[in-house]
Amino acid sequence: MDVVTFGETMVLFTPESTGLMRYAHTYTRKFGGSETNFAIGLARLGHSVGWISRVGNDELGKAMLSFVRGEGVDTSCVRLDPDAPTGLYFKEIRNASDVNVYYYRKGSAASRMTAADLDEAYLAQARYLFVSGITPALSESCREMVFEAIRMAKASGLTVVFDPNLRKKLWTEEQARETLLAIAAQSDIILPGLSEGTFLFGETDPVKLGERFLSLGAKIVVLKLGEKGAHYFTPEENLHIPGFHVEQMVDPVGAGDGFAAGFVSGLLDGLPLPEAVKRANAVGAIVTMVNGDVEGLPERSDLKRFVESPGEEVM
Ligand code: ATP
Repeated sequence: MDVVTFGETMVLFTPESTGLMRYAHTYTRKFGGSETNFAIGLARLGHSVGWISRVGNDELGKAMLSFVRGEGVDTSCVRLDPDAPTGLYFKEIRNASDVNVYYYRKGSAASRMTAADLDEAYLAQARYLFVSGITPALSESCREMVFEAIRMAKASGLTVVFDPNLRKKLWTEEQARETLLAIAAQSDIILPGLSEGTFLFGETDPVKLGERFLSLGAKIVVLKLGEKGAHYFTPEENLHIPGFHVEQMVDPVGAGDGFAAGFVSGLLDGLPLPEAVKRANAVGAIVTMVNGDVEGLPERSDLKRFVESPGEEVM
């Protein structure tokens, strides 16, 4: 196994119509979860990846499991919980630039995960552990699970990659700041967005932010900058890697997860850092061109074609 990740994936209902949710009658059913988006991104690029989670022992949980498994992600460590439902969320598209989400996830099967859901031998045979900042916000037992997973990963020599994935709806700002900084301080690689960095450190300058994250002890920090690409930092150097020009952005959600998949894929392939960040930028950009979180995730041939098409880079 190249990579293991864990966290909650929910059933996502997207309305066919725009306007207030109370008027939406017809929905498309999909699945949404940062960690499975990331895992599916890696699987499409040919890497072996496992996802640890709990889903309800219900029809939607079983549908989710076969979806993720069908995308080539190992789900042998996902448990069906007989006592709690699979979490749901609904999108409300008031207009193209005003999209809300409503969660029905409190008490969900995944929020009941504990450190006992982690199989140390399963983790130990991987090279990377991918941790998202959503999981510790789900419950106290999920918070404990995150720190236990990091402890196990470090004991077995895995590289810990952390995406803060700030979700302000799930916890207070103080709780979020304290926990996300504590996880960042135990991570080898941190992949924050600019706004997450500003939230955590009260700083807006990308270079100063990169240095603040590095001072926590990380070996690599890659700050995501939307269409401008990303800026990576190590204790020795830092460099801005420009993003790819996207003619028509359709749906930015999931770009960060695709970015993480592209970056870890680059590291697994032994690419130098600038090349790994370039691959991450490419996957993030490709994801924004397609509606949905995973629908746009590229296979190797798509990625190659996109990167080789001329005139695509913007400063
Ligand atoms: P998410 O909303 O998925 O959590 P994020 O806030 O973590 O995203 P972003 O900076 O929005 O991260 O996007 C991640 C990466 O995707 C960027 O660093 C960039 O490489 C790529 N990307 C995002 N938006 C665009 C865009 N409009 N054009 C080109 N590339 C983009």
